[in-house]
Formats: sequence, C-alpha cells, structure tokens
Amino acid sequence: MDKDKTQNRTSLSKQFTKINMVMAIIVAFIGVFSFWLNASLTEYFILNNISNDDLHLIYEDISSGQTIIEWGNYGLEYDSYAEVMDKEYMIKSSSTGAHAPNYQYSVREFNELVGDPELDVIIYYPFADDSELFILVMPIQTSFIPYQATLISLFIFILGLFATVKVFSSFSARQLISPIEDLSKTVHSIKNGAYGTQVKLNSGNDLDYLANDINELSTAIDTEIRLRESLESSRQQLILDISHDLKTPLTNIIGYSESLGSDKNLSKEDKPFIEAIIRNGHRANTLLNDLFTYSKLNATHYEINLQPFNLNYVLEDYIASVIEEIESASKKYDVDLHRGNYPVHLDIQLFRRVLSNIVDNFLRHSGNETTIQFVMKLKDGDAASAQLDILDNGIGIPEEDKEKIFDEFYRADHSRSVQTGGSGLGLSISKKIVHLHGGDIQLMPTETGSHFRITLPLNEENT
Ligand code: ADP
Repeated sequence: MDKDKTQNRTSLSKQFTKINMVMAIIVAFIGVFSFWLNASLTEYFILNNISNDDLHLIYEDISSGQTIIEWGNYGLEYDSYAEVMDKEYMIKSSSTGAHAPNYQYSVREFNELVGDPELDVIIYYPFADDSELFILVMPIQTSFIPYQATLISLFIFILGLFATVKVFSSFSARQLISPIEDLSKTVHSIKNGAYGTQVKLNSGNDLDYLANDINELSTAIDTEIRLRESLESSRQQLILDISHDLKTPLTNIIGYSESLGSDKNLSKEDKPFIEAIIRNGHRANTLLNDLFTYSKLNATHYEINLQPFNLNYVLEDYIASVIEEIESASKKYDVDLHRGNYPVHLDIQLFRRVLSNIVDNFLRHSGNETTIQFVMKLKDGDAASAQLDILDNGIGIPEEDKEKIFDEFYRADHSRSVQTGGSGLGLSISKKIVHLHGGDIQLMPTETGSHFRITLPLNEENT
C-alpha cells in the first residue's frame, strides 16, 4: 500500500469523533442562537421599543403643552402616557390620561410606578443638570399566545437540530456507510462466486485497509480456484485418457479369453480360470465405461446435445426395451404414465442412461421377485415440471446409506455389492445427467423398497 496515503489515513473512530464533534458544536451554536432569539423576541413581543429620537419628539410635544399624542405612530399602546416633571417629581405638563400639571408625586409613589411589573416605564433626562425629568409610561404588551417567544425559539431550535442531524447523517453516510456498503457488496459477490472482484475505495480511513485486504483475499481466492479448476480438469483428462487407453487392451483380453473359453480342447482344470478372467474382465470393463462416462460428464466444457421429445414416448419406448430383461429376471413391472404431452428437451442417449442405471440397480440390488413401478405426472404444485417416480418393493437402501447414495463410488452394503457388481458410479452419473438437463433426482423416504424421483422442466416450445 502507498506509504504516503497510509500516513494520511485517519482511524475510523477519529473520523467518527470528528464528525460528531462538529455536529455537537453546530448544535451548541443553534442552542445559543435560540437563547438569544428567545431574549430578543421576548423584548419584541412584550416590551415597547422606542428610539431616543422618538422619545425626544414626544418630550418636546408634551413640553410645548400638547396633550394628545398619536401613540400608534410610535408603535406604542394607545393607553400609554407621558409626563414632564421637575426634580421634586412635580408635574409640569402631561399627556391625556396622565396626572394633571402641578400634581406632586411622593418618592414612594414614584418608585412604585417605576417598579410596576404591569408597566414599562422609560425615564428620560433632557438636560445635563437633571433639572427636568420626562417619563413615558407604557402598559406591557400582551403576547399573542403565552410563551410566544419561547415557543418560536424552541421551534427554530428543533428545526435547526433536525436539519443538522439530517445533513450530518447523510454526510457520515457518504463518508462511512457507503464505503461499508461497497465492501459488503464486494464480499457478497465473492461469496456468490465472482472471485477476483475488486473494490475501489478512497475513504481516507481504516476502511481503505479493509478494502485492500478484501481485494487481496479476492485475488488469492480467484487464483486458488483457477488452480484447482485447472488441476481438476487435468485430473479429469487423465482419467479420460487412461480409461480410453485401457479400453482397447481390455476388450482384447475379454475377446481372447472368450475364444479360449469356447475352445473344446480346454482342460477341465483350466476352464474355471478362464471363466474367472472373463468375469473379471467384464467387471473391469463396466467400471472403465462408468469411469469414462463420469469423467466425460464432469469435464468443464461438456455440452449435452438437447433435442425436443415427449417424455411419455421416451418412457414407453424405454420400458418396452427392458420388459424382456425384467421378466427373464423373474421380476415384474407396473406402468402408470399420465396420458398427454410432456414436452422436454433431452439428450436421449444420456437420459436413457439414467433410466437404465435405475432399472439396472433394481435388477441387481432389489432382491428376488420384486416389482418395479413407473409413475409419471405433472409435479405437484408446479405445472412446468414433469415428475417421474421409479419405485420398487425390494430390500431398499439402508437408512445410513441414503444420504451418500448419489456420491461417486458409494455402494450400500459392501458385502452385497461384490456379488452384484457395478462400479458405485451409476447413481452419481444419473444425478449429473439429470442436473445437466436442469432437473433433479432424489431418493424419496419410503417404508419398503427404493423410491427415486426425477423432476424435469417442461418446454412448452416443443409442442
Ligand atoms: P452400483 O454400480 O453399485 O449399482 P450405483 O451408484 O448405481 O452403483 O448404486 C449405488 C448403490 O445403491 C448400490 O451399490 C446399491 O447398494 C444401492 N441401490 C441402488 N438402487 C437400489 C435398489 N433399487 N435396491 C436396493 N439397493 C439399491
């Protein structure tokens, strides 16, 4: 990582603290402003504001003997009044509503007037020697609603608070949350298989380290996966090559042994050996064929050859071809195919392989005098899929083997499987083929016998 950039990076907690501190300072400012607003509004709503010039004008009017003053012109209450008096509080002149000239205030009376909470009294000394005193008495204004100033300031404070929180939340979201979202999206894509996905962050905080680590991790996973894929594909190729190369010599061995076995001059002692060679040759051949098919299907770029079919016909056709085999093994069959069109896209060779694996297992593993049943219908609750059940009433698959039955080389009851032959690849090949067709195969829970269920997507375009 770039060293300069690393040094300039702030820790996430510091960045958080910084943002919150700035927010706290702004909120404090709004608080102070609201206090000031409250004070100013209180003065505005309750106390009478009059300029010195106006005060002087009123004084001059009163002094010159005018008794009627247009209080409204000065923004004052109509029941305001003014008095000019001498040092001894003797009225010299006054406006209407005030004490008449020559009225003498006592000191107590004057002080009570000034201190009256219902009144707003301004005392004005027109001369430097305080020889004259002018008082303007105004009733305190009543506000529109109680605590009007406080409510307005509180409202402005709350508004400011919300606006600040909103602005800072979106700011910190941009600074902190959206990089986290980007990181989370990247991790999610990597989890979903988009290995190698990189995230570009320039948040200037600890998250850049995290982004860097995620990028390195993503690259490492991508490299590892590619390596594994290439190893896997070489392994598959190796198996394919070996099984292919072994096919010809094995076919030769079986061919030569069979012609030796049919030789009339073969001694009685040698016959069992030749028969054993033929038997084991056939087993090895089955294993080799299954191995070849399995590797081929698992090759990374295996493409199946899909053609449109009616699944009903495919099944009828297949069942007809195995009836003889079933009957000659002293077993029975039962078919319940729903009439109608079941349009599917199949690689017919591969799909017949699925059916023959299951039927073959029935013939080899289910026990004596068993019956196989084929039931086909639309999948319950999903008219876009066909559901094919193939079940028998044989010995079934032991409970502990059910989970692994589709694993490659897995065979239930190993003592039995030596006699029954097989590679342990049949069901895993079947599963692979059904998946390549976009369907699924499952072993269904059953009291007796085995029950396989194949679901396949229907393709309406076939019709
Ligand atoms: P295999 O080549 O051994 O038949 P499969 O993968 O086709 O391999 O089957 C796996 C195992 O499942 C078999 O070895 C057998 O034990 C068990 N199995 C499959 N089908 C049946 C069945 N119809 N009845 C009893 N056991 C079965």
